[in-house]
Amino acid sequence: MTQIGTSAHPLRVAVIGAGPAGFYAAGHLLKQSDLVIQVDLYDRLPTPHGLVRAGVAPDHQKIKNVIRVYDKIADHPNFRFFGNVDIGVHVSLEDLKAHYHQICFSTGAQVDRSLGIPGEDLQGCHSATAFVAWYNGHPDYRDLTFDLSHERIAIVGVGNVAVDIARILSKSVDELARTDIADHALEVLRESKVRALFMLGRRGPAQAAFTNPEARELGELEQATTLVRPDEAALDPLSLADLEANPDRTTQTKLELIQGFVREADEDKPRKLHLRFLVSPTEIYGDGSGHVAGIRLVKNELYRAENGTLRPRSTDQFEDLPVGLVFRSVGYRGVALPGLPFHERWGVILNEAGRVVEAQGTPVTGLYTSGWIKRGPTGVIGTNKACSVETVEGMLEDFRAGRLLSPTAPEPESAEGMIHARQPDVVSFNEWKKLDALEVAKGEPDQRPRVKFVRVEEMLGALDRG
Ligand code: NAP
Repeated sequence: MTQIGTSAHPLRVAVIGAGPAGFYAAGHLLKQSDLVIQVDLYDRLPTPHGLVRAGVAPDHQKIKNVIRVYDKIADHPNFRFFGNVDIGVHVSLEDLKAHYHQICFSTGAQVDRSLGIPGEDLQGCHSATAFVAWYNGHPDYRDLTFDLSHERIAIVGVGNVAVDIARILSKSVDELARTDIADHALEVLRESKVRALFMLGRRGPAQAAFTNPEARELGELEQATTLVRPDEAALDPLSLADLEANPDRTTQTKLELIQGFVREADEDKPRKLHLRFLVSPTEIYGDGSGHVAGIRLVKNELYRAENGTLRPRSTDQFEDLPVGLVFRSVGYRGVALPGLPFHERWGVILNEAGRVVEAQGTPVTGLYTSGWIKRGPTGVIGTNKACSVETVEGMLEDFRAGRLLSPTAPEPESAEGMIHARQPDVVSFNEWKKLDALEVAKGEPDQRPRVKFVRVEEMLGALDRG
């Protein structure tokens, strides 16, 4: 009988999505010293690193140092990268099943959640995901346009993505010009007329989703004063009771930071960033020509839900906030993959601890998931490590129990041949390293970390393809 997991017959695994979750899954698989495992990592883009490249804010370069960890994983002789290969377009699930014993989907959460209120389709109402991907040079978003000639902008949501957007819109071009922000975004930001930003939180300061380092940065902006109204910084009785019952240092620090924003604006700074709490948008209203003119807000109060959490409930007090642009930043959402069971409301692949399951809970042999498409869009980059390790442990357990797919062509050359036949413009890890070096070299004259290629054709051109 063929012994899988040996050098004669390695365990062949495909990981789909080369973001943090995909790399951590590959890394944990390749760490197994008692088994020979070969990992092929696929990505839809010619470039790896997912949200580290296209999501992490350009002024947070240090966070991107995690790429060194991914490069070490990629150095393993049993690792291969197939970039510019879209699963579902170039290669089907059936193709993968013909070539691998196990397949792990780590495709992230690619779209945004909507608010479900009137006016979201007006011109000037954008998703955070699109704006973030645009300023980070994601090829799919390169040609979007954002009109920053408006002085007043609302950002719905007070998570870290909303903070990233507020910071990018608050900083000067001089500050951003030293980052790897996409050149097309820098040009638009150079002409920005933005003077007032409103970040809108539906619950109170104690429930703000942003983390403390991010809040602290808001207090240190060179070009903008972050401001909070005293009535909205004050703690409501329910949050106060919770904090007294459970004096949690992180929340206390967050509240101190927020209360520090109750102050006068620094008139030497051209921009004001208003952090609002206990307000929910009920409608985005237009100017009569199809463009956003403002956002109608209802004042909320908090109540204790059955599960003990504090939830927002609207009162009868409304307010109109005139703004020219709205960004909704209320969380990302995963996209269903052809042939995989999907939970529409949660936006995740149906799974139990990373094992893909049918609606009735029956595991689907050989299929796994990790990262945001497994657990939803929560946590920081490092959270994906534990998430992928959990999935891989399940994969190893299934391997030991003999629960594997039965590929008809498990040889690595066979998968490679199939991919090249389907997508001649597949990009290898060495080719990505060439692109990487070119980007870094382009940034050097201006002391930038890199200048990104923002079109797939440009990347292929730089590799002398086509
Ligand atoms: P998030 O942290 O889940 O925040 C979403 C925000 O939207 C919350 O304030 C939420 O309020 C609000 N919201 C949801 N539905 C709403 C509605 N219908 N109306 C009004 N507000 C609504 O999501 P995110 O900012 O997209 O971030 C995703 C993950 O990436 C998070 O784990 C985040 O920490 C992480 N991230 C980290 C960094 C970093 O480390 N620097 C940077 C970016 C992102 P409720 O709390 O009331 O639901």
